[in-house]
Amino acid sequence: MGLLTEGTPLTWEETKKLAEHVREHGIIQFINLYKRLKERKGDVLKWGDEIEYIIIKFDDENKKARVSLRGEEILNVLNQEEQNHPDTVKCLWRPEFAAYMIEGTPGQPYGGTLAHFNVVESNMKLRKQEATELLKDKEYLMSLTSFPRLGCPDFTDPPTKATPNEGGTKSLFFPDGAVFGGHPRFMNLVRNIRKRRGEHVAINLPIFRDKNTKIPVDDSHTIRKAALPDCVYLDAMGFGMGCCCLQLTFQACNIDEARTLYDQLTPLCPIMLAFTAASPVHRGFLTDVDCRWNVISGSVDCRTEEERGLKPLKENKFVINKSRYDSIDSYLSTQGAKYNDIAVLYNEEDYKKLRDNGIDHLLAQHVAHLFIRDTVSLFSEKIYQNDEEDTDHFENIQSTNWQTMRFKPPPPHSTIGWRVEFRPCEVQVTDFENAAIVCFVVLLTRVILSYQLNFLIPISKVDENMRNAQKRNACKEQKFWFRKDITTDVSPPEANRCCAGSNCQPKECDMVGFMTVNDIVNGKHGDFPGLIPLISSYLNGMDVDADTHCTIQQYLKFIQKRASGEVLTTAAFIRKFVMEHPNYNHDSVVSEIINYDLLTTLKDISDGNKSCPELLGYSVTTKTKENVPQALKNDF
Ligand code: ADP
Ligand code: MG
Ligand code: MG
Repeated sequence: MGLLTEGTPLTWEETKKLAEHVREHGIIQFINLYKRLKERKGDVLKWGDEIEYIIIKFDDENKKARVSLRGEEILNVLNQEEQNHPDTVKCLWRPEFAAYMIEGTPGQPYGGTLAHFNVVESNMKLRKQEATELLKDKEYLMSLTSFPRLGCPDFTDPPTKATPNEGGTKSLFFPDGAVFGGHPRFMNLVRNIRKRRGEHVAINLPIFRDKNTKIPVDDSHTIRKAALPDCVYLDAMGFGMGCCCLQLTFQACNIDEARTLYDQLTPLCPIMLAFTAASPVHRGFLTDVDCRWNVISGSVDCRTEEERGLKPLKENKFVINKSRYDSIDSYLSTQGAKYNDIAVLYNEEDYKKLRDNGIDHLLAQHVAHLFIRDTVSLFSEKIYQNDEEDTDHFENIQSTNWQTMRFKPPPPHSTIGWRVEFRPCEVQVTDFENAAIVCFVVLLTRVILSYQLNFLIPISKVDENMRNAQKRNACKEQKFWFRKDITTDVSPPEANRCCAGSNCQPKECDMVGFMTVNDIVNGKHGDFPGLIPLISSYLNGMDVDADTHCTIQQYLKFIQKRASGEVLTTAAFIRKFVMEHPNYNHDSVVSEIINYDLLTTLKDISDGNKSCPELLGYSVTTKTKENVPQALKNDF
């Protein structure tokens, strides 16, 4: 989860005093890196996925499932392979926020041939296999967005206790022992975010109201004034950062292409969030949301009361309308400029310094906006740096702006180019689904660049879509703002299918329509060609080996089915499972036994031991392979 600096964390009081120092040097470091790297070009497409996993421990005797806090122990072994064979290792492993989580990525990024799509799923399987070999009896690695009973009594193995009055988290529900202890960054963030905010973080998720649902949901509101009686109240960073997600990073050929990709993928973030929805249960209750996004957003919301607009500004400079974990606030490409319809906050001096150093308005605004946030994690060894060479202060702020998209400059002294990261997706339980989503998004980037498509809509509409994307059953029921007229003057004729009918010219259409995920993915006659038809027409012109072709077709079919509602989202599947469980009392409570049965079922589906057409459809056996055949390594 971002920059992992070794060393000694400073106290909050010390960190606070150095906020200006980090800001000042972070901006200078960005200016220096920009000057050094702005002309960098000729980088090829490289890309990779990141998957976060939860270790679950099943207690078959008592029919309980708990999270196992052995992440650190397992990571230590997993990382040895990387230390011994850094160039040939097949999987890379990193710590994550919670003691029950680990993050895995492919050993090397994938490259620009279609044949790489055929190794993605295989690598995901290998990751599960590598970690699974280190697990004990009854432990199981799951790519699960949220553990349904996180924060309930007795949810960890070994047992831990929440300590509301002492320690770092001070939560009513989430124990310090469930935070990853192998690196000081995580607990340091917990403490500093709470201290900066001046009170506990507070997330109130509307409860799903079933016929026997009790309101108030529990007695949280009698203990904490921030807790709303008709909501599931969460009070710790772990409820958000303890969720898992699926992320993708792409390398662009130069900075301009990275800016274009950053912008063009932005309107797809809420759509993919709704599409991948996988987390309807929190702290043992069915809620009225399907996604983790706002939970994480609230769980790291370090804004003070002044910054949240609850008190007049005195100590702080701005009222800020979003948490540091949220959707992006401004586009970066020239094409995007006119869709930046919400004022972007920044310090005038930071902006001016960036502009005075030759950085254009859009990029200067973006960087200055990131720097409205104070550092919430600083290490004593890293205070004084060489601004010509180091970028830690820039990375400090960059990596704690957790947004839907991230614009990543090349790291110092590396061969890596300008990259963008796509961050909204919830992780799915099977490798098949995760691989399908990864390949779909990578193909979209190729279609966007090759056909020079334009998906931009006003940023305020993207924000509105983000809110709607998280609602219960959004993938099927919500409508989203989406651009209809997506071809540009330079798009080739095969992309120019806006209105399907031959009489209708794209420019006659209204620019933005209100569409379902199905309309967007599969197309809406007369309005929008559909992302899958666009990808199919792009693939028609490409040479691809038979196995890869077969795999890609299965992924695309699956994406079509999920978008059309023919198969359920993970969130819908979980809801249905809970509501149909014989022990469910129609009171929104996900009991130990329901949790156990749900996770056992998801585990069997993920293992392939149980077929689940309602979640996956019928054909889920792809021709995925471990390696790209030598003959197929040409770029596309
Ligand atoms: P984060 O800061 O999000 O943890 P990392 O820098 O660790 O990101 O990169 C993670 C992802 O980027 C992985 O999926 C990895 O395969 C991929 N990746 C690594 N090198 C490149 C590259 N040169 N271009 C694009 N993606 C890359
Ligand atoms: Mg990562
Ligand atoms: Mg990442």
